Amino acid sequence: MIAAQTAESVRRGLASSLCLYGQGVVRGYAIGRAVVMSAAALEVVHYRVADEDIPTEKQRLCQALDAAVADLHLMVDTLPDDAPRELGVLLSVHAMLLQDPMLVQSVCQLIDERQYNAEWALTTQGQMLAEQFALMEDAYLRERSADVRQVIERVLRVLSGSAQWLPDLDALDTEDSLIVVARDISPADMMRLRGGKFGAFLTDLGGATSHTAIVARSMNVPAVVGMGLVRALVRDGDWLIVDGLNGVVIVNPSPTILQEYENRQAAFLRERDELKTLRFAPAVTLDGIRICMQANIELPEEAADALAAGAEGIGLFRSEFLFMGRAILPSEDEQYQAYASVVRTMAGRPVTIRTLDIGADKTLDGEATVATNPALGLRAIRYCLAKPELFNTQLRALLRAAAHGPVRILIPMVSHMHEIVAVRRALARAADELAAAGVAHDTQVQLGAMVEIPAMAIAIEPFAETLDFLSIGTNDLIQYVLAIDRGDRDVASLYDPMHPAVLRLIAHTINAGERVGKPVSVCGEMAGDVRVTRMLLGLGLTGFSMHPQQLLDVKKEIRQAHSNALRVKVASALNRAERIDLSALSA
Ligand code: PEP
Ligand code: MG
Repeated sequence: MIAAQTAESVRRGLASSLCLYGQGVVRGYAIGRAVVMSAAALEVVHYRVADEDIPTEKQRLCQALDAAVADLHLMVDTLPDDAPRELGVLLSVHAMLLQDPMLVQSVCQLIDERQYNAEWALTTQGQMLAEQFALMEDAYLRERSADVRQVIERVLRVLSGSAQWLPDLDALDTEDSLIVVARDISPADMMRLRGGKFGAFLTDLGGATSHTAIVARSMNVPAVVGMGLVRALVRDGDWLIVDGLNGVVIVNPSPTILQEYENRQAAFLRERDELKTLRFAPAVTLDGIRICMQANIELPEEAADALAAGAEGIGLFRSEFLFMGRAILPSEDEQYQAYASVVRTMAGRPVTIRTLDIGADKTLDGEATVATNPALGLRAIRYCLAKPELFNTQLRALLRAAAHGPVRILIPMVSHMHEIVAVRRALARAADELAAAGVAHDTQVQLGAMVEIPAMAIAIEPFAETLDFLSIGTNDLIQYVLAIDRGDRDVASLYDPMHPAVLRLIAHTINAGERVGKPVSVCGEMAGDVRVTRMLLGLGLTGFSMHPQQLLDVKKEIRQAHSNALRVKVASALNRAERIDLSALSA
């Protein structure tokens, strides 16, 4: 129940104010009232079952598991057309987790041997599993501990007979915007929340790659995750201000603060509307330098978003997302359909498809990460060259898709020239096979590589000469230059895109591309970060690729910048190996 507290009481300063911090994952402001979600796992009952009741208890557990799986499948089958695209995949992953025979077996064992009731056995096993995931070195697998917790929550709710996790939204009867406050939000719960008029999501758990973050981003709703104690500190009906960019949440703000944020929110919304007018305006700097603005996508359907945001092409299609979260790898035909659909959507604009970048924080289902240091292990092109049949299937699908429009093949994690030679050989084999079988394809694809391993950036010249284009993957480049695991929160403060060593390597790559007339772009997160746009222009960058939602902000910045003046400022600082003050680059 929402407490009977009115906006007026807050405006008059009757409630006490509190400021909380977390990780802001979706930009934007929200002002509204808290709806605090219960967490079944925190309220679980513990008792021992009598010997004769053990079979019934196990049956109760199995029925609850079946019901939860059936519910998840039903949700997948009835996903509305406008549901965030990632949801279907995420819901299926949750159903798979619940169907794992090991899970049922170990929970039943706890009921059998320790005579725990079903809820107790389930939370015990769930905690153990979640802890095992949480201890993993691999960031992607670590994040999966949240999935385990969420599916257990789901079954607990079925066991308790109350699937009623959400308050009755219709009964809330309020005109105010509602802000969801939860320990964590599973994809299935996100699905339920979609129907409501929620202004923001706040969670105790989760990080930038958590599902709450991913889905909130695709819904474009401000979100702050990893808040620690927000669920304990906020009460139903509290007034909240959420700043989704800076990860700030103000509880029961004073009238002055409220006014300040109302102004910021209004300005933000005005700015959003104004930006839309830039959708089809060219990205040209004040001194006439034409910048190419492309989009990064992870699923084929996102090509439509890219086009709607005015992208001039796809600068990075992370094809590994077609391969993840599933038991059976996509066939050549499935891949071909996916790639061709993007090519068709982009209607003649270039589509850069990166070959499978699996390994490190992205693993295939059923494949344990055994490398001692996965980020330095059998990853990306190394993995593909070690699995020629898997690589051949992808290359054939890419060449077939190229028959529908301009496809550029992008190779991740290249460090040696012989890898390029091997890729060309693999491409020739795939083309020969298709030709022999009379399958329509196009061999005129451009071949490029990600510049994300320092060795390649340092010795860039022969790569620039032999390849058709270069795309700088700053996410990994920074990780490898600074020896900072990009997914490790403990060293996150040292992950510094502005480190002179990083900037010098970017400049070096851009200069090499200019010398031999090969296009160079940046497709790492730096490209979409408006705070460093001027820096990248100053380094001489003319190609940017980013999430579709970032395109307009960056384009606006580009249109207000003077590229040559920035180049002079940045070059002189880089020559002195100085740390460049970003504020010195602003207009
Ligand atoms: C990068 O490393 O900058 C990049 C774009 O690739 P990913 O984030 O997929 O590793
Ligand atoms: Mg990378």
